[in-house]
Amino acid sequence: MKTAPLNILLVGSGGREHALAWKIAASPLLGRLVMAPGNAGMAALGEVRPVKATDVDGLMALVKEIEADLVVIGPESAVEAGLGDALAAANVPCFGPTRFAGQLETSKAFTKGFADRHGLPTAAYRVCDDAASAKAALDAFSPPYVIKADGLAAGKGVVIAETRADAEAAIDATLGGRFGAAGARVVIEEFLVGEIGSCFALCDGTTSMLFGAVQDHKRAYDGETGPNTGGMGAYAPAPVFTPELLDQVRTRLAEPAFAGIAAEGAPYRGVLFVELMATADGPRLVEFNVRFGDPECQVLMLRLESDLVPYLVACACGRLGEMPPPVWRDEHAVCVVMAADGYPESPVVGSIIRGAEQDFGPEVVVFHAGAARDADGTLRAAGGRVLNVCARGATLREALDRAYSAVDSIDWPGGFCRRDIGWRALAR
Ligand code: AMP
Repeated sequence: MKTAPLNILLVGSGGREHALAWKIAASPLLGRLVMAPGNAGMAALGEVRPVKATDVDGLMALVKEIEADLVVIGPESAVEAGLGDALAAANVPCFGPTRFAGQLETSKAFTKGFADRHGLPTAAYRVCDDAASAKAALDAFSPPYVIKADGLAAGKGVVIAETRADAEAAIDATLGGRFGAAGARVVIEEFLVGEIGSCFALCDGTTSMLFGAVQDHKRAYDGETGPNTGGMGAYAPAPVFTPELLDQVRTRLAEPAFAGIAAEGAPYRGVLFVELMATADGPRLVEFNVRFGDPECQVLMLRLESDLVPYLVACACGRLGEMPPPVWRDEHAVCVVMAADGYPESPVVGSIIRGAEQDFGPEVVVFHAGAARDADGTLRAAGGRVLNVCARGATLREALDRAYSAVDSIDWPGGFCRRDIGWRALAR
């Protein structure tokens, strides 16, 4: 691989990619940063090009045009579209897995079978293709019932049902097309009791290392109520991740997963997001994602002291063994997601946002997710999760105070956020 300065193509357009771009742009190794399709906030950090994350041919043409030395895949949709495979075939270094390895996220049924094949601790489960067998399978479980769409559903394909009637309704809705093809099969799972957390691990195909841990909030409203979302906020460090738990995540989940996927013919290059339940018996897998989390990534990037680019390059080029463990700032970081009214079911787009780009001080960064800019500069809601207000502080409380004070000075009547991000850690 070429040495610095590097031409980097970053694929994606959400808050996660804005955070990655922010960190990549700070690297002394960077030559040119091109983002596809990027967003209005990312445009300030490099060049944005209107090529969709799933347009593999368009992205390959862009790779050639800009002579990309490294491609960083942000979203799972690009993994599912086969971008990692196309780049491997063209011998272009890529941070992000192949489509086969991507099944660790794109199919919950694949992942449950994979966990069985490689001895990863996870919840007991049944996979069903039709409503009658799915309803009958509920007999093997007790409430609350966990009903999941098999495929990608933007974090919204999971229902935790307190009663059998609700569980049956969730089965009918999922198999009835609520999530399109992603819901052609359902996975029914044992409900795991414990505290949930997100841990990240890098792999270069052979060598792996942990790369941070975060806690997020999946429910839409305060007090963990309302529907599941892609994530309404996150914070780190998360006290649930004791050194012992991190060690167990590494030895029982991350390393066996990387060895397993390599044994199945698809060595993993990129980041694996391990969502786990910390139970009385140690960590049990809730799900894998084959990319950084959103909004977890935003918090990781605020806390990462090390340059990110050498880690991305090392994963893409099989040189992770040469890298020291990452250095994290001795500070707390939080992300408060501001979402459009109606999110997650039916976000109202088009409302005007004022004051999102003021100077909030050195410890606050506002990343754009589903926001778009008019020709005259006006910022508008253009998606469900719209802004990510992130802050650092010496304590979690201080980081939260900074983030919420920035939230309060953003004038956006059409949006909402949770006011209790980090409550688990504050309650300890
Ligand atoms: P997932 O999309 O699989 O991450 O699930 C979304 C959320 O549902 C998770 O963040 C958990 O809070 C919850 N969840 C998923 N699976 C289980 C389970 N087996 N037991 C308890 N909670 C679960």
